[in-house]
Amino acid sequence: MAQIIDGRAMARALSAETTARVEALRTRTGHAPALAVVLVGGDPASEVYVRRKIAECCKAGILSVEHRLPADTAQATLLDLIERLNLDGDIDGILIQLPLPEQIDAALVLDRIDPAKDVDGFHPVNVGRLSTGTGGLVPCTPLGVMKLLDSVVDDYRGLDVVVIGKSNIVGKPVAMLLLEREATVTVTHIETRGLPDVARKADIIVAAAGVPHLVRGYWVKPGAIVIDVGITRIMQEDGSTRLVGDCAMEELAHARAVTPVPGGVGPMTIACLLSNTVTAAERARHE
Ligand code: NAD
Repeated sequence: MAQIIDGRAMARALSAETTARVEALRTRTGHAPALAVVLVGGDPASEVYVRRKIAECCKAGILSVEHRLPADTAQATLLDLIERLNLDGDIDGILIQLPLPEQIDAALVLDRIDPAKDVDGFHPVNVGRLSTGTGGLVPCTPLGVMKLLDSVVDDYRGLDVVVIGKSNIVGKPVAMLLLEREATVTVTHIETRGLPDVARKADIIVAAAGVPHLVRGYWVKPGAIVIDVGITRIMQEDGSTRLVGDCAMEELAHARAVTPVPGGVGPMTIACLLSNTVTAAERARHE
């Protein structure tokens, strides 16, 4: 049977480390790290994510400051808020929950966040730093993927990795992080030809397409490691819903290790958000 990489346990361990860093920072500087969480509109999924992020911040001793704006908020109003948060010395991290309502240009909004407070790692400065391997804040999900992989991989040099999905928030940054470790990375997407054959050559597959059960058993070579980033809520016959990943897990017994959905990448994403917030707070105090 494939080893199940326990994302919940790893997230707990990372959050415990983060809590200790919060305590240490507070002792040294008297400052508790603070995250501003901005939610525009009442998208139900966003509400759930924001509530979870705030609860986890609270557990780790990170102050979270919520800004809830109505769905018809003008772009200028949101930009003003970001400017105030950028200038507020008590705020270390700024998180704008996506998606934003359609009257707001999300790329413009993300560009306005001070890169030093961009705990999601989406600002072009942080994207550039990631692609040049020069520090910066790393997006939370890709950072979580690397930590999960690090628990089963010692040396990435020369390993063949296939990343499925080329989004700015998952696929591309994951590919950059793996390139930094000297893996040979193939980034694939919806237009990739012969994807099962491409995937079958991989030592590591990172699936981030958002297509339930896309990755079948015959796509995965024996002994490969599979990280399932996908999360899709599907309706079951009895009307209830459940979360499923991009991989047909029941067909992956021949893999070396796999991450479950739920309980794999998801918990690590939130734990990495907390860790990034503390990193931003430490750097702001030149630590
Ligand atoms: P996206 O829609 O921005 O990008 C999806 C990518 O997958 C695209 O590059 C597309 O070309 C590719 N793709 C789509 N269908 C494909 C197919 N049939 N074959 C090959 N490639 C295909 O999505 P995203 O924001 O990168 O998210 C991807 C998935 O990861 C979603 O399920 C999302 O919910 C999940 N996600 C999870 C976390 C987490 O914390 N676990 C975080 C972010 C995203």
